[in-house]
Amino acid sequence: MSDQAFYSSLQQKLATLEDEGLFKPERVLASRQGAEVVAQDGRTLINMCANNYLGLSGDVETQEAAAAALEKYGYGLSSVRFICGTQTVHKELEQALSNFLGTEDTILYAAAFDANGGVFEPLFDENDAIISDALNHASIIDGVRLCKAARYRYANNDMADLEKQLIAALDAGKRHKIIVTDGVFSMDGTIAQLDKIVALAEKYGALTMIDESHASGFMGATGRGTHEHCGVIGKIDIITGTLGKALGGAMGGFTSGKKEVIETLRQKSRPYLFSNTLAPMIAGASLAVLERISKSTELRDRLHENTAYFRQEIERIGFTIKPGTHPVVPVMLFEAPVAQKFAARMFELGVLLSGFFYPVVPMGQARVRVQLSAAHTREQLDTVLKAFEQAGKELGIIKN
Ligand SMILES: *Cc1c(COP(=O)(O)O)cnc(C)c1O
Repeated sequence: MSDQAFYSSLQQKLATLEDEGLFKPERVLASRQGAEVVAQDGRTLINMCANNYLGLSGDVETQEAAAAALEKYGYGLSSVRFICGTQTVHKELEQALSNFLGTEDTILYAAAFDANGGVFEPLFDENDAIISDALNHASIIDGVRLCKAARYRYANNDMADLEKQLIAALDAGKRHKIIVTDGVFSMDGTIAQLDKIVALAEKYGALTMIDESHASGFMGATGRGTHEHCGVIGKIDIITGTLGKALGGAMGGFTSGKKEVIETLRQKSRPYLFSNTLAPMIAGASLAVLERISKSTELRDRLHENTAYFRQEIERIGFTIKPGTHPVVPVMLFEAPVAQKFAARMFELGVLLSGFFYPVVPMGQARVRVQLSAAHTREQLDTVLKAFEQAGKELGIIKN
């Protein structure tokens, strides 16, 4: 406590964040997660900014599955997996995820952040090349940094640039090359062109990896993910993803792929070796979620119906959106102050939304990001659309 300058420099940096409008306050909810949430002040809001795509976060069936696992396996294990932290429920969940994703084996982590953080260093070294999309998630960027492989970056979703980088890695004489991309990019709802990526990987003898955090459970005809959506099931080498979004929403992550890849990670991946096992109630609930969505596509179908309806109606009212089919719907407001004012007005009108502006998105591309859920009713979506119309007219974004 003898270095006061340290604390004053932090205070200054925090004040600068506030001045620049980059400080992130936390919204406090007084209820469970869902299509409607209760704010701390007691107001009920329609929630349009959770990654709760299938509506399972506050869902009673999910909760009951967690409670059953809690009852059977207890609260926690006080151990990493390889000492005494592996229960039957962890092995069952890994098997179920492999079946669901169409892979050979799966390893669980406490978070997808850890899955991505611990996937590169055990598998690749300075003789290899990682070719990564410029907009990949922070956890992929950090994971790549922890690895000695040469780094190549291609412009977001740009297949010509990807090919250029593959050629550069080939010319540099790199041994193994892996193309890494988010399956879906969460700021724009852009879906990676996995069919083209797989074709390029085949042409240049490269491996492929996708992060399915915004896809597992609802993209593709049966919700298996972006690889199903793009018709390349069985052609992706490594799949990472989260249990903390569509697949239940608590926490947890995974890496899935060929047996020898997963076994290497079990032996060498540091966030797996040196961090506690996933709580058994989360493993049990995730297992129940996978069983539920493997039996019926009802939730996935409802999510896509809600998405199609919202995308159609919001454009009809006169707003500009990024075109697409994903339940992430960026409603473009372009200027940062407009996006801020708009989100604040929507909050007053009872709709929870988040605004994004530079540097999170490019300058002049400010927006509010709507995320649809299977839990939203048509009535709730109509209320939200009415609020959009009202706020849009008040702020002169759409015509009267
Ligand atoms: C949310 C997210 C993660 C992190 O997931 P956690 O399980 O919460 O750590 C990783 N990658 C992508 C693409 C994400 O969207």
